[in-house]
Amino acid sequence: MRRALIAANWKMFLNRESGTQLAMALAKKTADVEDRDILICPAAPLLSDVSAAIQGSRIQLGGQNMYFEKEGAFTGEVSADMLLSVGCTHVLLGHSERRHVFGEDDTLINKKVLFALESGLKPVLCVGELLEEREAGNTEKVVHRQVVKGLENVDALAQITIAYEPVWAIGTGKTATPEDAETVQAYIRKTVADIYSTDIADNLRILYGGSVKPDNIGGLMAKGNVDGALVGGASLKADSFYDIIRFT
Ligand code: PEP
Repeated sequence: MRRALIAANWKMFLNRESGTQLAMALAKKTADVEDRDILICPAAPLLSDVSAAIQGSRIQLGGQNMYFEKEGAFTGEVSADMLLSVGCTHVLLGHSERRHVFGEDDTLINKKVLFALESGLKPVLCVGELLEEREAGNTEKVVHRQVVKGLENVDALAQITIAYEPVWAIGTGKTATPEDAETVQAYIRKTVADIYSTDIADNLRILYGGSVKPDNIGGLMAKGNVDGALVGGASLKADSFYDIIRFT
């Protein structure tokens, strides 16, 4: 059985004070949530304070991005060691905003995945098609490429989570139907089974992301290949994120 993971991507929202307050509220609200995993991914300058705020709680901490070099003259970048040093266990990699706003490609994302693993961070590899790619019937082709290239030279998948996030559903209020999510996520699992093994694919958590809200999480989580959610907008308020965490 795959354990559910509900993850928050705070993107470039909140600040030290509001982020810490939200983290404290979530730590308190989720004290009794034992049967699923919870991850929050604040912007880098908030990580230290949020880490302190969730100390002793069940919530895990993740970065939103990371560079693939150990250290050096890389102005503006964040290293794996920096994330680990403030208590991160996870890192989002290949988020659609990194791919489409900042031009990250599969090769760069793969380097980050490999370096994160080598450093002891668990990557959440985000994949998903653009609206025009879906309309052209290329969803599977795009997602296949992103999964295969993103995981190139990755030996074992135990530390990896994949998040399927159709780009047209992120921040738009347009959620993929549970059936759409299931179809693509089953395909992702089959892709992983083809590269690795059925056993490994069966143990891989695949999250859905894209306008997840308290009123649509139940339908999504009812599908066999949806193992959790990556939540943007609705993770910025303690009540709505808690309602998503407590989908049943
Ligand atoms: C995201 O940022 O990964 C995301 C899914 O955002 P939203 O929930 O706002 O669509």
